[in-house]
Amino acid sequence: DVILSVKDLRAEVDGTEILKGVDLEIRAGEIHAIMGLNGSGKSTFSKVVAGHPDYEVTGGEVIYLGQNLLEMEPEARSRSGIFLAFQYPLEIPGVSNLDFLRVAYNAKRKHQGLEELDAFDFDELVREKLDVVKMDASFLSRSVNEGFSGGEKKRNEILQMALLEPKLAILDETDSGLDIDALKVVADGVNQLANAENAMLVITHYQRLLNYIVPDYVHVMANGRIIRTGTKELALELEERGYEWVLEDATVKA
Ligand code: ADP
Ligand code: MG
Ligand code: MG
Repeated sequence: DVILSVKDLRAEVDGTEILKGVDLEIRAGEIHAIMGLNGSGKSTFSKVVAGHPDYEVTGGEVIYLGQNLLEMEPEARSRSGIFLAFQYPLEIPGVSNLDFLRVAYNAKRKHQGLEELDAFDFDELVREKLDVVKMDASFLSRSVNEGFSGGEKKRNEILQMALLEPKLAILDETDSGLDIDALKVVADGVNQLANAENAMLVITHYQRLLNYIVPDYVHVMANGRIIRTGTKELALELEERGYEWVLEDATVKA
């Protein structure tokens, strides 16, 4: 079962081509990692998949569960199971985390043709999910991400993911580096929520996240393309040898 099929995807921002022909196939039950140097286009790729309006797709195709993803509105993408965890989570003063989560959750239920959960039932559900992230219930009454530490924002993000049960979760990790606790939160969440019906795509600059998440495939992105695909060993090799050899190898072959 193919969840996401990307062929020769090209995209630009402000007239500059950033993605220069990305090819990637993700099947159900798989965990993929995209690694690469800063500026290689990793975040751009995740935003294009989510439908961020700043990025113009200029070529190629993206098929998500048999549908042309590029023709779907960003909201439709998320309702149909694409979850993008942002590098810099939004703070929403005045909106409680609980209300925010309930709106997001019920939007998805509605899309599935199910009745909305009332506040009472939702409260029960969300408390179950708190266990996944070992989050204290007091976080639910606070404003979304406001004053949250880096680790707390991560927990909140994974809580959203646990509730929404995405078909394709994309986690774009900040290049500035998460502390070890936050890394473990992300990794535990991914490991608990990954199953045979969904797929996880973890984007990271650093190998260390992959000490906790075992990806089935590791891809290297450079200059807007995926230039190499391997297994977990590739990530270890990159940590040991850097990126230079992969880049040179790709240049020779091009
Ligand atoms: P990565 O996530 O791999 O570090 P990005 O996708 O963030 O890389 O960036 C890839 C390239 O695209 C960089 O050169 C960056 O400056 C450029 N870029 C990304 N977004 C924008 C934007 N909104 N406007 C201008 N340039 C952008
Ligand atoms: Mg970057
Ligand atoms: Mg990035």
